[in-house]
Amino acid sequence: MKVPKAGVIAAVIGLSLTASACGGDDDQGTLAVGIKFDQPGVGMREPDGTFTGFDVDVATYVAKELGYSKDRIVFKEVLSNDRELLIEYNEVEIVAASYSINDKRKAKVDFAGPYFLAHQDLMVRADDPTLTKAEDLNNPAKRLCSVTGSTSAENVRKNLAPKASLLELGGYSECVVALKDGLVDAMTTDNSILAGYTARKGNEGKFRLIGLRLSNENYGIGMKKGNTELQVKINNALRKMVEDGTWEAAVKKNFGPDYKYETAPAITAGS
Ligand code: GLU
Repeated sequence: MKVPKAGVIAAVIGLSLTASACGGDDDQGTLAVGIKFDQPGVGMREPDGTFTGFDVDVATYVAKELGYSKDRIVFKEVLSNDRELLIEYNEVEIVAASYSINDKRKAKVDFAGPYFLAHQDLMVRADDPTLTKAEDLNNPAKRLCSVTGSTSAENVRKNLAPKASLLELGGYSECVVALKDGLVDAMTTDNSILAGYTARKGNEGKFRLIGLRLSNENYGIGMKKGNTELQVKINNALRKMVEDGTWEAAVKKNFGPDYKYETAPAITAGS
C-alpha cells in the first residue's frame, strides 16, 4: 500500500477541519470534544450511540458554560496516543479523556484543570492470587498490558517494572480481552478506568483491582496552546461544577459506590 507523506495527511486533516470548525460564540457552531469511547464510567460510546462516563459529564458541563447546549457537542474518539496530535490539527477543540497533565504533554498542548485525581493500579483476574504488590511485577516472566502513549505504560517501562514483558495496545478494552484470555497476567492504568471495567455489566466477578497507588494522575482538559481565554473559561466552569455539587454527583454516578475517590483537586493550570 502506498503510504501518504505526513504533510499530505496533515493537509487532509486540516481541510476536513475547516469544514467542521468549532464555532466560538457562533449560534450555529458545534464543539468538537475528544473523549475515549471504550472506558466504562470514564468515557464510553454505548451500543445505542449515546455517550456516558465522568469525562462526558465534565465535558457536557463545561460545554454548557461555554455556551454549547448538549445537542451541539460532537464527541469524537481519541486514543491515548493521538490526543496531542488531534488537538494540534484542530480535529477536536478540547479533550476530556482521562488525560493526565504532565510536562511532556504541556510542551505540545495546554490544559485546564485538574478536575480529577486518579492513581495507577493493577487489575488481575479475580481467581489469580499471584500478584499482590508492585515489586512482583519487575520480572520478565510477568506479562503486563497497557496502552501506547499513556503515562501508565511509560511508568512501567521507566520506573515500575522495566524488566516485565509489557504488551502495549491501542486501547484499554483490548487489554481487558488480553487479560480475560490469559495472554497477560495483569493490566495497568488509572484505578478510575480499571474500576469501570470491573463494574461493567458482564464483567462482574471476573476481575479485581490490587489497590495500589503507583502514581498521581491529575486529569486536565486538553486544548490548543495559547488560548488563555478558553483555558480561563474552562477553569471557571470546572470550579463551578465542584461548587454547585454537580462534580460529586457525577463522580458517584459514574464510578459507583465502591470507588474510593479523592476530593476535587485545586485548579492550578494556567495560573
Ligand atoms: N491518565 C493516564 C494518561 O493520561 C492513563 C489513562 C489514559 O491513557 O487515558 O495517560
